[in-house]
Parts: sequence; C-alpha cells; structure tokens
Amino acid sequence: METIIMNIDSENIDYKIIDIFGKMLKEGKTVIFPTETVYGIGANALDESAAKKIYVAKGRPSDNPLLVHIAEVDDIHDLVEEVDGRAKLLMEKFWPGPLTIVFKKKRSIPNVTSGGLDTVAIRMPSDKVARSLIKASGVPIAAPSANLSGKPSPTKPEHILKDMNGRVDGILLGGACNFGVESTIIDLSGGEVVILRPGSITLEMLSEVLGEVKIDPSIMNKDDNQKAKAPGMKYTHYSPKAEVFIVEGDQKEVAKKINELNDENKEKGLKTGVLCLNKNKAMYNAQTFTLGETYEDVAKNLFDCLIELDNKGIDIAYAESYEEKDLGITIMNRLKKSAGYKIIKL
Ligand code: AMP
Ligand code: MG
Repeated sequence: METIIMNIDSENIDYKIIDIFGKMLKEGKTVIFPTETVYGIGANALDESAAKKIYVAKGRPSDNPLLVHIAEVDDIHDLVEEVDGRAKLLMEKFWPGPLTIVFKKKRSIPNVTSGGLDTVAIRMPSDKVARSLIKASGVPIAAPSANLSGKPSPTKPEHILKDMNGRVDGILLGGACNFGVESTIIDLSGGEVVILRPGSITLEMLSEVLGEVKIDPSIMNKDDNQKAKAPGMKYTHYSPKAEVFIVEGDQKEVAKKINELNDENKEKGLKTGVLCLNKNKAMYNAQTFTLGETYEDVAKNLFDCLIELDNKGIDIAYAESYEEKDLGITIMNRLKKSAGYKIIKL
C-alpha cells in the first residue's frame, strides 16, 4: 500500500493538510496522527470496514476494542446511552485531555469498533492537530496506539516511519508527544468506578473529583492479568526485542547488581542496556538509556527508550524501579508489561 506522508507544525497548523487527511478518514481510509499521549492510527469509528483496517494494520486481535476519539463534548450523545453525573464531572475537569471513559454504547457503534462489547471507550484529545483532524473528518475516529500489536507505543515521528510506512493510507507527522503514555481508562459502565488502565490522569486526581475510585487488580499483577476488564491489558505489550528485567531495591545495591550482571552478560557475548534516571547514570558500567529527572519525564521518555534498546542492538536490559504511587503506578504498569513481569528483588 502506498502511504501519503506529510509533516505538520502543531504551533502553526496548515489547515489544507488537515483537510486532505480529514477527507481520507471520511472516505474510510486509515491515517496515523499525533495526540498528546501517543501517536494513534485512526479510521471512521462508525464504518465497520474502515475500523477493520486498523486491526489489520496493527496485527491486533479482534476482541481488543478500539478507543473512539471525538472533537467536541457534544459529539458524545450519538455514541453512548447515557452521560451520567459522574461522567459530566470528569468531562468538565479532564476533557479535552488524556482521560478515556467507558460508557454503555449506542447501536451506532459497530461491533468491530467495540470488540464485541456492549460498551465503548471515548476520549476527547487536547492535541490541536488531533482535534482539527477529527473535526475535519466529520465523524468519530477510532484510534488505538499506532504500533504493531505487542510493541511499545510510538511517541515520536521516527517510531512511526520505521514500522507503519506502507501499512496505512496516510501518516501525519507532528512532534514528540507531550505525555508519552496512553490515556487513563476509567469505566463508568457499571455501578463502581474502576480504572482499567493507569495513565497521566492519576488515581489521586480522579478520586478528588469522584470520591472512591477502584483500580482493576489486573493492572499490577501478572496472576490477575487474564481477567483484565480492558481486553488489551491481558496481551503481551510494550515489548522490545531485548529481554527486560526490573531491578528493585536500594539504589546502590541496584547499581552493583546490574554491573555484575553486565559483566556476566559480556562474557556470554550479550549486550546490556540500563534504563535509568539521569542522576544515576554514572553508577553503571553498561550502556545507559536515560529517562530524565522526574516521574513526568520517565512517563514521557519510557517508550522512546524501549524502542531505542532495539535500535542499539541491546540483548538484555535492566530497568530501575519506581514507587507505585501517583504517576509511578502508570510507569510501573508499562514497565512490568514490557518486562513480562520479571522483577529482580534485592
Ligand atoms: P490502545 O489505544 O491501543 O492502547 O488500546 C486501547 C485500550 O482500551 C485497550 O487496552 C482496550 O482493550 C481498551 N478498551 C477499548 N474499549 C474498551 C471498552 N469498551 N471496555 C474496556 N476496555 C476498552
Ligand atoms: Mg496500544
């Protein structure tokens, strides 16, 4: 398939380009575009055959539903049964932004889009390119992350070109994504309020608005993984070719252990990488991939560093561990999945 690729400057949007790609979406074609979380691969959410193309391009299992993106709050009423008081509070506070809300769906949403569920997950992105594109298409846009299924989500233009060129009709390239991890998914379709996937909108932020918010146990533990309420959370995910291990303990001990393991790996002819904070970089004798200073930096840079491991031919990677609080819950969720839950505890 020939892919039309264009660059766009989010600070100075060329609306002629937006119109070209909006028209492609309206015609049932697939377009990759930037959002504030990660790059998405979009198609008309109401058109079964268009939505099917997303599964094919990603190699995604068909029981893993797609997120639906809208340009304006009012667009939601054609898609869901009811927007209750809790949803209104969340939408007022966090939309547009990186929060996806699961509702009971209307029949307008085809089964292909909802992965056969009677619910649909909806989000209104804050990224200006994404919003203008959805508006230009005139339809809600189904858009999961624009990676091949199982791989880390793309957060920079170069990640897209490597894997997706030739697999979609269009690619709209902006800059690096602001948050770097996918949206928080919260389920309001039942009685309880449950976080199905942690993201940049944290448990603490959601509890401030809604009171008690639960967290799906499958988010943190391998044993519960097969029961995940967000179907996508049960699949292998975020995995680079390199084998990833999380190393947990006192920082000095962590560095000592990783350096010993690097020596052992070297003898076997294996190349080691370390995912670490900038401030710890000098403690390691192996090649480092630095994630920044703050938890926000780590969230933003994590997928890029996982992809970089493969670009640098790393065989085994060790990642420092993070406190499972606030954004640390999100970071550890992605890290544990990329490591296949392999943790070296010191
Ligand atoms: P992605 O954007 O590729 O990271 O995937 C979207 C995530 O949302 C996947 O984990 C899906 O399983 C999940 N998801 C989408 N729709 C629903 C829904 N109706 N109920 C629960 N989870 C959903
Ligand atoms: Mg994804």
